[in-house]
Amino acid sequence: MGQLGAFLKIGRVENPEREPHERVGDFREFVGTLPLVELQQQGARCMECGVPFCHNGCPVNNLIPDWNDLVYRDRFEEASIQLHRTNNFPDWTGRLCPAPCEASCVLEIREGEAVSIKQIELAIANRAAEEGWIRPQPPTTESGRSVAVIGAGPAGMACAQQLRRAGHAVTVYERDEAGGGLVRFGVPDFKIEKTVVQQRVDQLAGEGVEFRFGVEVGRDIDVAELRSSHDAVVIATGARVPRDLPVPGRELDGVHFAMDYLYGRNRFIASGTEAAITAAGKHVIVIGGGDTGADCVAHSHREGAASVTQIELVGEPPVSRPDDITPWPRWPMKLRIPYALKEGGTRDFSISTTHFEGNGKVESIHWAQNSGAHPFELVTGAEDSRPADLVLLAMGFLGPEGALLEALGVEKDERSNAKASPLKYATSVDGIFAAGDARRGQSLIVWAIREGRGAAAAVDRFLAAKA
Ligand SMILES: Cc1cc2nc3c(=O)[nH]c(=O)nc-3n(C[C@H](O)[C@H](O)[C@H](O)COP(=O)(O)OP(=O)(O)OC[C@H]3O[C@@H](n4cnc5c(N)ncnc54)[C@H](O)[C@@H]3O)c2cc1C
Ligand code: SF4
Repeated sequence: MGQLGAFLKIGRVENPEREPHERVGDFREFVGTLPLVELQQQGARCMECGVPFCHNGCPVNNLIPDWNDLVYRDRFEEASIQLHRTNNFPDWTGRLCPAPCEASCVLEIREGEAVSIKQIELAIANRAAEEGWIRPQPPTTESGRSVAVIGAGPAGMACAQQLRRAGHAVTVYERDEAGGGLVRFGVPDFKIEKTVVQQRVDQLAGEGVEFRFGVEVGRDIDVAELRSSHDAVVIATGARVPRDLPVPGRELDGVHFAMDYLYGRNRFIASGTEAAITAAGKHVIVIGGGDTGADCVAHSHREGAASVTQIELVGEPPVSRPDDITPWPRWPMKLRIPYALKEGGTRDFSISTTHFEGNGKVESIHWAQNSGAHPFELVTGAEDSRPADLVLLAMGFLGPEGALLEALGVEKDERSNAKASPLKYATSVDGIFAAGDARRGQSLIVWAIREGRGAAAAVDRFLAAKA
């Protein structure tokens, strides 16, 4: 275990971040890790509790106390081996996970004192990349079976890696020009540089996974052909149908879904291709207070927007953990200041958009304060308006695109996701499985990885039973 009683002497230290005024001038990552000695001290704070709740709080059940101790002892290669046993892409989660493990760390019973688990995970993953420990691990025997994975997001890629390592031939069909799904085309470079995504695509390719980029299943290859050329199919297409805002003026030029903006920005950074939607010099309104909204705010800063305002329908949460609603070790529903707002802009809660105005092109947004919770009644006399040249709708996603599920004949659940139990990942059609946001609904990278691993195990059992 870490150093006995270290948690009593050493306080939690957050990841170092580049200064907001400096980082908005480029697209490089802005979060780092502590120098080695300080990082080891953070690892030493782990108490190796009798019942490590962090391990259960982590969706992939990372063996956190084990690698905290290995980092404390400067045994990074063993820490990397241990970390990769449960997590295919710790370099992605170390950067992007909201760290539910930390919310359930026993030290977090006193709020704000959790072991800095995510930072330690990132340091191990970075060291693994620097030392060349992220190598292909191709299988030693071939099963003779073949699996199609539709979608190269974290769910599809984790699934493909597990299946390939079990000896199956795996083809990943991806409509985008490169792998990573939302981690590549949704999340900005300043949160994860795309070399970090590519190192995993290369690793999978080195293991023998075949990627077919620029191929949309259902359009470029029909589902009957897909089924006849593979023994099993995994749907990992994400939840890409965005929630719309049906208010007067929605049709005006300049009102866009956030993903159209973010895909354009990510492609611009990757290849210099000028994007159709730009925030440069504009009054930008971002509707939606989640991760997607924050990423739109941050891109707008880097583009030199005239002003950036983020609005959120629901009320402002409490500043500290509400013990009656989300007690430890549950994920606390409390106020968090997104990184993007540290860089500038404002955020308002309990706001309902009533309409947009403009002459062909949006010029202003009109809203009213609401009651802060369902059914969001409008407060009379609390109407307001702001200039708006660009409005980005970042209000979440409703589920996967229906056409592919229909073409495959897969039953949907009540939320329109592919219907499959989290234990079996099998859909209503024999030989077709589903994982990630396409099955679970809009979620997190770490859940997508868990789902990809779970679906791979289910496919492996299915293929073994058919042998
Ligand atoms: C802007 C934004 C920021 C986010 N930030 C974070 C964050 O910081 N931390 C976090 O944990 N989570 C974050 N998330 C959520 C996270 O990215 C997703 O939960 C995760 O990527 C889901 O993985 P997935 O593999 O299920 O789906 P996706 O990542 O959506 O990948 C699905 C893939 O399937 C492909 N596809 C779809 N249909 C077809 C077809 N018919 N044929 C071929 N290919 C197809 C798509 O092109 C895509 O590449 C963010 C989401 C967004 C939108
Ligand atoms: S993947 Fe997320 S929840 Fe799991 S250990 Fe890493 S930061 Fe924590």
